[in-house]
Amino acid sequence: MKAEIIAVGTEILLGDILNSNTRFLSRELASLGIDVYYHTTVGDNQNRLTEQLRVSKERADLIIVTGGLGPTYDDLTRQTIAEVFESPLVAREEDTDYLFSLYQGKGEPTQYFLQQASVPFGSYILENNNGTALGFILKKESIVIALPGPPRELEPMFLESVKPYLRELGLTEVIHSKTLRLVGIPEANVEELLGEYFKEQNNPTIAPYAKFGEVHLRITAKAASISEAKDMIEPVENHVKKYLGEYIYGSDEDTLEEIVARLLRENRVRLAIAESCTGGLLSHRLTNVPGSSDYFIAGLITYANEAKQELLNVPLETIKQYGAVSKETAIAMAEGLLANYDIDMALAITGIAGPTGGTEEKPVGTVHIAIANKDRTEVYSKSFSGNRETIKFRSTQAALDELRRWLRG
Ligand code: ATP
Ligand code: MG
Repeated sequence: MKAEIIAVGTEILLGDILNSNTRFLSRELASLGIDVYYHTTVGDNQNRLTEQLRVSKERADLIIVTGGLGPTYDDLTRQTIAEVFESPLVAREEDTDYLFSLYQGKGEPTQYFLQQASVPFGSYILENNNGTALGFILKKESIVIALPGPPRELEPMFLESVKPYLRELGLTEVIHSKTLRLVGIPEANVEELLGEYFKEQNNPTIAPYAKFGEVHLRITAKAASISEAKDMIEPVENHVKKYLGEYIYGSDEDTLEEIVARLLRENRVRLAIAESCTGGLLSHRLTNVPGSSDYFIAGLITYANEAKQELLNVPLETIKQYGAVSKETAIAMAEGLLANYDIDMALAITGIAGPTGGTEEKPVGTVHIAIANKDRTEVYSKSFSGNRETIKFRSTQAALDELRRWLRG
């Protein structure tokens, strides 16, 4: 459903008042899932309002007009709508009587005052509990809704009468999204792997967002109900999974550490970690998950070579020959942990977080991650870009991802 809002009032064009009615209505319509395509402001001028209504009538399903419903000669909204939509103004006796009653003992009300009771023929009347001007809903080529200008009249009228009306029309839609969370793949590769599929989708839409150390893919559907939206999202999700399944670690509110924690618990794996360049960040993230004592046995920060030797039995020759940042040292760290603790799995990280310490052969961002259990040891070599904080975080992200992949088999 395409909607537009026309604010009537020379005061707005002059900048004397802020057009807060349009803002209020736009937010409300968005919450109902109604798309607003245009905002227009027209002065208190019948010709220009006529012109605008003719344009809007051609392109909008719903037109909301605010202002110009009051008791003065410059309030022209109702006559203009009546003319453009060819519905003469009529008034109910009770509404006219009510306006007369306000003048009891004060003479005769003016014709302008009485016009507040009239609405285009066939309209649904919107009572005004906070003023004298009636609003109305007229259903012709488009649905036209006229609301009084003062916000203290417009807002309750919208909330009490118009909103339920729009809901009941069944024209409103809900917007529902599902976010898939991916790790270990850059945003550009996500787009490339999905290719044309990205551009072809308009309901549901599918949009990638680059986050810190991961990519989120948001699938958004518009439908008459949440369950219908979910049904529309499912095939898109399946399509994405076909191409990117291995990178998807979770959805919506999941975090990578929670997913890894769940896998460790399900597999009854007791884990210990030795960290160099990440300085305990990986242990911190894993122990942020409630109940981590079920699987987290120890986290050692073995920063200096002596610590790697003393606490993990890394041979001095290994460090001398290959360097502290090397596959060999990472493997020795993990295997040292496995030998020293009563655990099922060991993970070690060593790398260069920068900004100094890089060489041509081992630039800043070089990181080695080793994972070992009783049967095998694997080492994963990465090169990350970014500042110190980013490299540390990306290292933990990669370590968690490798654990995830290992545990899923
Ligand atoms: P009234 O019965 O008060 O004349 P009306 O429906 O004729 O109401 P207008 O005469 O256009 O409305 O505006 C009356 C007052 O309502 C303005 O002086 C202003 O304070 C407020 N108003 C009108 N339009 C807007 C708007 N778009 N946003 C915020 N306030 C508005
Ligand atoms: Mg007015």
